[in-house]
Amino acid sequence: MKSVHEALSIRAEVMRRFEDLCRFQDDTPFTITVVGGGPTGVEMAGAFAELVRGPLTNDQAEAAANIKIVLIEAGPRLLPSFSPKLSARTKSDLEKLGVDIKLNTAVEEVTNSAIKVSGAAEIPSQVTIWAAGVKGEPAASQLNLPLISSRIDVENSLQVKNYPHIWAIGDISGYKDANGKFLPMVAPVALQQGKFVAKQIINLAQNKALKSFKYRDKGSMATIGRHKAVVEVGKFRMTGVLAWYAWLWLHLFYLLGGRNKIGTMADWTWNYLTFDRGNRHIMDSI
Ligand SMILES: Cc1cc2nc3c(=O)[nH]c(=O)nc-3n(C[C@H](O)[C@H](O)[C@H](O)COP(=O)(O)OP(=O)(O)OC[C@H]3O[C@@H](n4cnc5c(N)ncnc54)[C@H](O)[C@@H]3O)c2cc1C
Repeated sequence: MKSVHEALSIRAEVMRRFEDLCRFQDDTPFTITVVGGGPTGVEMAGAFAELVRGPLTNDQAEAAANIKIVLIEAGPRLLPSFSPKLSARTKSDLEKLGVDIKLNTAVEEVTNSAIKVSGAAEIPSQVTIWAAGVKGEPAASQLNLPLISSRIDVENSLQVKNYPHIWAIGDISGYKDANGKFLPMVAPVALQQGKFVAKQIINLAQNKALKSFKYRDKGSMATIGRHKAVVEVGKFRMTGVLAWYAWLWLHLFYLLGGRNKIGTMADWTWNYLTFDRGNRHIMDSI
């Protein structure tokens, strides 16, 4: 799941299947599986669990009771980039929401109605959402620039290797940190690299020396559901309601423009008060 269009398609598919459950009024099971226990997978699984427990149960409790949410993670814990304590808290928060979490479970194949996993029985799944691993825009490979893995190979200055007047930033940039690891595909990396390259271009135009990029990790946040999130900044950790409000405010703060901020705040307040009843709309296109 990458684009708004894909997100709307997933919602439309889930709502259509829910309407079928309401119409047939039998015990047909409907399983939604999210593959990948990183921040995106955790957020998706939590959002589905809340959709089922809230608006769908209010609409048709018997039909909603047949919906199961499964979260599959290949590693031994959720949110592997966070501390083990926050991983454990995330797991318990999701389980309280009714999510069935399968750790140490590697997906081998996804079919129309099931997921084949290594060393265990296949998991029936009518809707499967892949949230295991982010991929940059395909433009990286279309431009015929040097690639490293699926990202564009860059110098420490963020100039593309052998192309000093082309720069690669954000998800498509193959910049590696001091430990030789790619930076995570997250917004703060893209923001910092964008500002950095703007200064580099000025330096280049003024015949000044170029600098090496250094990422400043300001911490990580992941939201699980209403009043549930985890925040980690260095050794500082926060969970629950406070972490959730911190997540909301930080995302508002980084939105561009006052109008966007006010509009988003109004939308969120409305959703908070009404439990997001608009979730039930089926929209196939935007
Ligand atoms: C579901 C999901 C949830 C995420 N949640 C978080 C989060 O909570 N926090 C976080 O920090 N990060 C999150 N991320 C990651 C974050 O969105 C990315 O790391 C960030 O957007 C990268 O910025 P970017 O500018 O490199 O790429 P993008 O934001 O992908 O922007 C690339 C742009 O280039 C355009 N483009 C592509 N090809 C062409 C072309 N040929 N010509 C012209 N334009 C083109 C695209 O349309 C797009 O608008 C999430 C990602 C996903 C998919």
